[in-house]
Amino acid sequence: MAPHALPAEDAQEATTTSTIPTTPATTKKASPALLHRLINAPPPTAISAHGSTLTLSTGATILDACGGAAVSILGHGHPEIIAAGCAQLSTLPYCHTGAYTTDAAESLAAILIEDGKRFGLAKALFVGSGSEAMDAAMKLARQFWYEVGDEGVRERKTRWVARKQGYHGVTLGAMGLSSNLPRKVPYAPLQIPGVSFVGPAYAYQYQRAGEDEEGYVARLRGELEEEFERLGGGKEVIAFVGEPVVGATSGCTPAPRGYWKMVREVCDAFDVLLILDEVMCGCGRTGTFFAFEQEGIVPDIVTLGKGLGAGYAPIAGVLISERVLQGLMMGAGSFNHFQTYQLHPLTCAIALEVQKVLRRNRLVERCNEMGKLLENDLYGALAEAKYVGNIRGRGLLWGIEFVKDKSTKEPFDPKVEIGARVQKKAFEMGVAIYPGVATIDGIKGDHVLLAPPYTITKEELRQAVDVTRMAVLAIESEID
Ligand code: PLP
Repeated sequence: MAPHALPAEDAQEATTTSTIPTTPATTKKASPALLHRLINAPPPTAISAHGSTLTLSTGATILDACGGAAVSILGHGHPEIIAAGCAQLSTLPYCHTGAYTTDAAESLAAILIEDGKRFGLAKALFVGSGSEAMDAAMKLARQFWYEVGDEGVRERKTRWVARKQGYHGVTLGAMGLSSNLPRKVPYAPLQIPGVSFVGPAYAYQYQRAGEDEEGYVARLRGELEEEFERLGGGKEVIAFVGEPVVGATSGCTPAPRGYWKMVREVCDAFDVLLILDEVMCGCGRTGTFFAFEQEGIVPDIVTLGKGLGAGYAPIAGVLISERVLQGLMMGAGSFNHFQTYQLHPLTCAIALEVQKVLRRNRLVERCNEMGKLLENDLYGALAEAKYVGNIRGRGLLWGIEFVKDKSTKEPFDPKVEIGARVQKKAFEMGVAIYPGVATIDGIKGDHVLLAPPYTITKEELRQAVDVTRMAVLAIESEID
């Protein structure tokens, strides 16, 4: 057994990855040196991976139907990605990326901007995680106003407007923009000041009875305009920040039709930048490379993560528009933001090969096609499920929301942990899905997410849906 491996019976117990901050179960075993999320309940040990499957130290194999946390877009063990990483390691494993540039970083930026320039994107920067990308995006947006504005603008443009359903990361900046309460509450005094939150674009729970989609979007417009008015008519606001398709916090919620066009219009009218967080929903996950392509808008800044390195390398990106670039050029002509491992040659070389593989094998298109299959299968499999209130998604990013009462959409008491229990049951049956809890305005809507690799086979997809159905039905009968 590997040094940190759990015996089979404990591994089963330790699989809950609920986002609810329950007191961890104590274990009689000596605690490992590694600081785990549930400090005394380490998760199972993964020892190898191939395709869409992980193997645990217990010998169990797990079909990873959520690609980790929507990360693994190409599956595991892809020979071309491994070869690209090895080639980079053997030629230039590291150099000071503040002092030198590399072919890997330049080519990665070039391939993304070649595509992104259709949307006005002009430059890319690469860092180590989605949270860091969001912090860099925040600094770029703030610096934009600093460079283009007079003393008054510099002094006043210090605030952010984000959304109640958003999650943007764990660093202090990104956490400040987030609404995922379990990940914020204990650290409250450290949060950045000046962030306010408007209502989520979450039709299932928030579109009122008798209100159509257009009416819902109009109401959200009113709320956003009111908030900008309150903040000096937008003069205090650096940027509005949101995920085009919300991932973790509310269980995959695409916005209602017309929502993002409305947001873009309101931001323009109030002279506020628009930062889109595509850390989870970007890189093809929703069936187009950028999720915003489906909304008919362009952002001032967009972040990518997760799928950018496809799980082979920790890398995330910030792409800025021509407008933001010109702003920086008008002023300092620099962005004083350097991290030792940003633009790392290895992570950039791997991400570059990921981009090449995506294009060569038309995998974003495949994601779209497989997504239709997944949608169809999920609706069919869960049609009779008593507590499945809503199934929604795009591409290969799908959420299943559980409610106690389908007619009132009343959520379960979070103590029931239905999402976490469904996830645990599915895991016992050999399929990994991703649980979560929407912690907004008192609504505690449990959900699970499916976000498999774009390379998943039809048989694997069917297995994922079958097991999800069996897990849902098993937990429903436990609850009844
Ligand atoms: N933004 C979104 C939308 C995310 O889903 C996440 C992570 O789940 C992040 C930002 C933070 O990314 P990371 O965990 O790589 O720091």
